[in-house]
Amino acid sequence: MTATDSVEQAWGLTESQLEIREHARGVARRFVAPRAHDIDAAGEFPQDIREIFAEQGLFALPFEEEHGGTGTGTLALIIAIEEIAKVCGTSSLLLAVQELGSLPIKLAGTEAQKSQWLPQLATGEVLAAYGLTEPESGSDSAGMRTTAVLESDEWVLNGGKRFITNAGVAGVYTVFAKTDLAAGHSGISAFIVPADAPGFTVGKFEKKMGIKGSTTGELFFDGCRIPAANILGEPGTGFTLAMQVLDRSRPGVAAQGLGLAGGALEYAGKYLLDREQFGKPLAHQQGLQWMLADMESKTCAARELLYRAGWMIDAGVPRATLTKYSAMAKLMCTDAAMSVTTDAVQLLGGYGYVQEYPVERMMRDAKITQIYEGTNQIQRLVIGRALLEELRHTEPIPF
Ligand SMILES: Cc1cc2nc3c(=O)[nH]c(=O)nc-3n(C[C@H](O)[C@H](O)[C@H](O)COP(=O)(O)OP(=O)(O)OC[C@H]3O[C@@H](n4cnc5c(N)ncnc54)[C@H](O)[C@@H]3O)c2cc1C
Repeated sequence: MTATDSVEQAWGLTESQLEIREHARGVARRFVAPRAHDIDAAGEFPQDIREIFAEQGLFALPFEEEHGGTGTGTLALIIAIEEIAKVCGTSSLLLAVQELGSLPIKLAGTEAQKSQWLPQLATGEVLAAYGLTEPESGSDSAGMRTTAVLESDEWVLNGGKRFITNAGVAGVYTVFAKTDLAAGHSGISAFIVPADAPGFTVGKFEKKMGIKGSTTGELFFDGCRIPAANILGEPGTGFTLAMQVLDRSRPGVAAQGLGLAGGALEYAGKYLLDREQFGKPLAHQQGLQWMLADMESKTCAARELLYRAGWMIDAGVPRATLTKYSAMAKLMCTDAAMSVTTDAVQLLGGYGYVQEYPVERMMRDAKITQIYEGTNQIQRLVIGRALLEELRHTEPIPF
């Protein structure tokens, strides 16, 4: 038990959430931390960590009990992602993307689609991926060009996706495509594309600054045929679904950022206690204590917002409220991640800059959390619009 633990207990986590945190922390420290450096250095997908997560039941966290999951909710999943990210950004993404790629099925799937896919995803036997981004449409996701046309009892997909996490290792891809080119947002639909669908291939893999063990690749659909029953929801509801998914998955990215911040802060703080310069531990320097104080305050403030967003998902608050809180949690946690990991490198001096110590890896891993699932500029757009909408319906203060 640490001082931080008692603060988190005061936050009001349930017995089950605390147990999940202990379990995830144990897995992170026993199995993942010793592998984190090598996963980054090799830049290879960590199949062993995937197997350990499956054995340890971590992939079950995003799912309901009826589909083989733990039924413990989003806040518990967030806490688990945070614990794994404290030691390894790549490994934490395994959990976050299992949630991201599964959410379209969880939110819009028929009972048949759910019972076909969710139990395999809950055991980790199958990994999921989420295919929204294209070369010409990133932040403006409605500008996608991939099309899907119904031909008798099959949908035929043509086009491509870029920057897709879990490309090549996923067994199922939830993919967004235009079914009506003239209808803008309302012409987009969502589909379940199994990895072995005819006409579906994975293209090149990106070489990246961080999260190097996670695969990021291109998807190609060249007359790709899937059964008509693989559409998720009604035709034309795909864009709304994509946004509903992001409301629920952005807290996972936030948790990844928060964990990276927490891991880097803990490492740097302990380093200052041990490292002596000018005849005393660096921790005795008030200027460095102030840096630690800022790092801890940013991390704790961001955690409050994130756990609130997680609680909101579990409580089923109205969508508009969730959209704003989810974006704010993503913004604050991932900006904290970049700032805290950068300061951690600074606190270690030259040792912070070399790969023998984990903080430079954490800093490189933190950068992507400000970019994917909507850049932080896009989060600010979402938050600003939501706030203005609230203000339109608020009685002015009678000054
Ligand atoms: C490692 C990695 C993994 C990824 N995983 C996935 C995945 O699994 N699935 C998936 O679908 N996508 C994934 N992505 C894609 C990611 O979500 C996009 O890269 C991201 O949304 C930004 O799109 P873009 O790269 O096209 O940037 P652009 O949209 O071209 O933006 C470039 C810059 O302009 C800014 N900008 C754009 N529009 C505005 C605006 N209106 N106002 C202010 N600023 C603006 C952006 O914030 C950014 O700084 C991944 C990307 C990476 C790098």
